[in-house]
Amino acid sequence: MSSPIDLIRRQVSDLHQELVRYDLVVWTAGNVSARIPGEDLMVIKPSGVAYDELTPEAMIVCDLDGTVVAGEHNPSSDTAAHAYVYRHMPEVGGVVHTHSTYASAWAARGEAVPCVLTAMADEFGAEIPIGPFALIGDDSIGRGIVDTLRGHRSPAVLMKNHGVFTIGKDAKAAVKAAVMCEDVARTVHISRQLGEPQPIAQADIDHLNHRYQNVYGQQTAPAAR
Ligand SMILES: [Zn+2]
Repeated sequence: MSSPIDLIRRQVSDLHQELVRYDLVVWTAGNVSARIPGEDLMVIKPSGVAYDELTPEAMIVCDLDGTVVAGEHNPSSDTAAHAYVYRHMPEVGGVVHTHSTYASAWAARGEAVPCVLTAMADEFGAEIPIGPFALIGDDSIGRGIVDTLRGHRSPAVLMKNHGVFTIGKDAKAAVKAAVMCEDVARTVHISRQLGEPQPIAQADIDHLNHRYQNVYGQQTAPAAR
């Protein structure tokens, strides 16, 4: 029988293939992590390993300070940012990072994606916000993610001049947010080419978001986000 850690290793390994499938990553950029429920541990991608060589066994187990507990490789260079999020947002069970093209183009301009599509109101409930410019190497990326997303409806943040970080109740929800973030960033970008996207009234955004997060789906639980 598989241990909870083995199940999370497999899940995180499999979810990396979704980043490839949805065209969110090139080469070895991008990463998915998951908190191990009930433990101060997380599972994350190894650094510099090609996507088609990722296996459950290759995943790295770290504590929430980013120190490796189990694994043969170094963990992703973004481990400190993921660990910071888990330490400061106990409700978060999964974190994803990509440099997906359209979302990163908004990040390069330092511009939030405005909430101008009903699908955005559903998934994000607001604009997709911009986080601060932050260099890798200390807590500044993690702090920027947490400071921007804490109290925000959006599970995605565009870190200025960098790319996308998303959070979710689990890793699958964070991957979904990364896929949806790129999708709406692309659509709103294309809309901008021919004119000015029209805003949606705040009351309508609130209504759509509440319905989607609480009513839509199979009714057994709030819609996955
Ligand atoms: Zn990055």
